[in-house]
Amino acid sequence: MQPNFDVIIVGGGPAGATAGYRLGLAGAKVLLLDKATAFPRDKPCGGGLSARLLDRFPYVREFLQAGEVPVNPVSRVHLESPDGTRVTYQQGEPILYLIRRWEFDAALLRRAQQVCTVRTGVMVRKCMVLPSHVELESTTGEVFSAPMVIGADSANSVIARHTGLRSEAAHKEYAVDMMEETTYDRLQVADRDAIYLFLTLTQTFGYGYIFPKTEHLNLGFGCKLDWYLSALRGKGKEHHAEWVDVLKAKGDVTGETNRDCYKAFPIPVSGPLQRTVTDRVMLAGDAGGFVNAFTAEGIFYAMASGSLAADAALEAIRSGNYDAKSLSSYERAWQREIGGDLAHSVEIQHRLFNGSGRMDSLVRNASRDPELLRLIIGYSMGASTYEELRSHMVRSTVPIWVWGKMKAAVGLR
Ligand SMILES: Cc1cc2nc3c(=O)[nH]c(=O)nc-3n(C[C@H](O)[C@H](O)[C@H](O)COP(=O)(O)OP(=O)(O)OC[C@H]3O[C@@H](n4cnc5c(N)ncnc54)[C@H](O)[C@@H]3O)c2cc1C
Repeated sequence: MQPNFDVIIVGGGPAGATAGYRLGLAGAKVLLLDKATAFPRDKPCGGGLSARLLDRFPYVREFLQAGEVPVNPVSRVHLESPDGTRVTYQQGEPILYLIRRWEFDAALLRRAQQVCTVRTGVMVRKCMVLPSHVELESTTGEVFSAPMVIGADSANSVIARHTGLRSEAAHKEYAVDMMEETTYDRLQVADRDAIYLFLTLTQTFGYGYIFPKTEHLNLGFGCKLDWYLSALRGKGKEHHAEWVDVLKAKGDVTGETNRDCYKAFPIPVSGPLQRTVTDRVMLAGDAGGFVNAFTAEGIFYAMASGSLAADAALEAIRSGNYDAKSLSSYERAWQREIGGDLAHSVEIQHRLFNGSGRMDSLVRNASRDPELLRLIIGYSMGASTYEELRSHMVRSTVPIWVWGKMKAAVGLR
């Protein structure tokens, strides 16, 4: 079968839609397949967009400003440690832009649709890499082929598994995030202009959150997949209802949980896969493990990796060379832009989620040190770097006279 497209993208979420939009704008012939029968489609998510996403993708800022997607920009964060210490951080500019994925993903896909062929209702179940092209087979037996494929098909990626880029062992290092998104007439929050982060579930590697959208309250918590499988399998809804009760007892939430709105979804939290390319194949977004392992932020990384995969695909189309060596320019590009950030997030996750003591002392210190609080929140929201946070923590734990001597030794003022 002769391929008609330059590239097939599997998955029309932020990673796939961004890759498709970029490739299509550059003139590539793209087929984008998604298993959802139509968009808008549901995607369990907190829907928090960091400010850097809006800087990196100005068209997103434009469509938010134009009201195409309803957004609640928040500039306040309530942060609670495992021992119940709570600190509130406030800044002038928005810290996070809260959207619903229902609307946001549809807006991204609309842009891809302007320049790509998009087919919804196609679930890819098989991917075969042949010497001259890639063949994909849908659950209805339809076969699609092209010189290359971008797998943007999320945490359970068929493309990653069928091409050997993801082993089953990697799956064990996933987290599960359980949440509900319920209208305000049923479930309300005390402070609609803030997000709430609860670092309260450390024995399970967990966190809880409340993200108020324009018309809906989104709340939930995440935990390690292995803990979920051993303790919560089949009991997720009950556990979620208990979590809502905890939030009600704290006085943060009023109203009733809506069990019909409960959803659980896996998140890769062990950093990018060891390899994200092979011959004729690239992985972007959750499929490649591009999620911040500390904060579970994934939309920015999905869009960034999708865009970088599109750049590498354009180069492959131009040169006619689709082998792994040629596509590895993608790996160099994501390493440069987001690799350090993602590696640090795994490091921080291992340190902080290893017991509640470190988390408690970090939040307690932040309650006394406004700059530390600013950096913790800034790092969590993608606004400040790990290096800034680390150097402040080193400075604040090193006695002043030692710090003075260290600075003098390296010639700092
Ligand atoms: C509960 C929860 C809360 C989160 N909160 C946040 C947050 O607040 N901020 C943030 O930045 N990130 C958050 N994340 C992470 C974020 O949701 C993901 O990182 C992001 O959606 C990844 O985008 P993606 O395009 O890779 O995958 P997805 O958004 O999952 O899109 C994948 C697409 O592929 C399609 N697909 C899958 N398999 C196939 C197949 N076999 N054939 C065809 N199509 C297929 C799906 O239908 C889907 O449309 C959260 C995650 C969860 C689970």
